[in-house]
Amino acid sequence: MIKERINEIIKELPSGVKLVAVSKFHPVSALMEAYDAGQRLFGENRPQEFAAKVPEMPADVHWHFIGHLQTNKLKLVLPYAHMVQSIDSVHLLEAVNRWALENGKVVNVLLELHLGAEETKHGLSEEEIHEILSSAGTYGGVRFCGLMGMATNTDDQTVIRADFSRISCLKSDLQAEFPGLKEFRELSIGMSEDWRLALEYGATIIRVGTAIFGPREY
Ligand SMILES: *Cc1c(COP(=O)(O)O)cnc(C)c1O
Repeated sequence: MIKERINEIIKELPSGVKLVAVSKFHPVSALMEAYDAGQRLFGENRPQEFAAKVPEMPADVHWHFIGHLQTNKLKLVLPYAHMVQSIDSVHLLEAVNRWALENGKVVNVLLELHLGAEETKHGLSEEEIHEILSSAGTYGGVRFCGLMGMATNTDDQTVIRADFSRISCLKSDLQAEFPGLKEFRELSIGMSEDWRLALEYGATIIRVGTAIFGPREY
């Protein structure tokens, strides 16, 4: 079942677009089913769960952290994450950079743009992202790989399209303004309900959980 679902999605992805299998709340046995189907890229959003799953899975798995990360939890995540997609504050970015410099690493990050209306949602404003990239050179421990966003939680496609359009335009504008940031090319948008739409707006990474693993039991 998991295998078929992954293959269905892969079939529709343009080359160069990466599928992150979002495995939060699912047991390692489910992740292994995806692994056996060829999936190597997984996403988790809770530090504790992330740190527990990493050693349970084969070493060639690539892990993206996609959830809110508190600065006192960096040790659980940064040694193992190939990318942190969810840099949602300058405070977190600075802490990640400090950790990386102390540990002799460079952490791949996406800057999370605050999209949608929900007040609880984390994310950076366009102005903050602009300021960060203007001083990108001061973050020696961080590699800026692009933008991440979560569209408004709604069935209204025009709202989702507006969100995707905004983040997609921002990415193009930033690439034009900061041509020196060669690695700034990823756009992580699209989840189970809206990944096909996200492809229309230039997604290079989609993050799909439910459509692969089924519903989560919280
Ligand atoms: C859970 C989650 C997803 C996947 O959501 P689905 O609707 O299950 O595909 C994608 N991105 C983030 C940041 C998530 O927390």
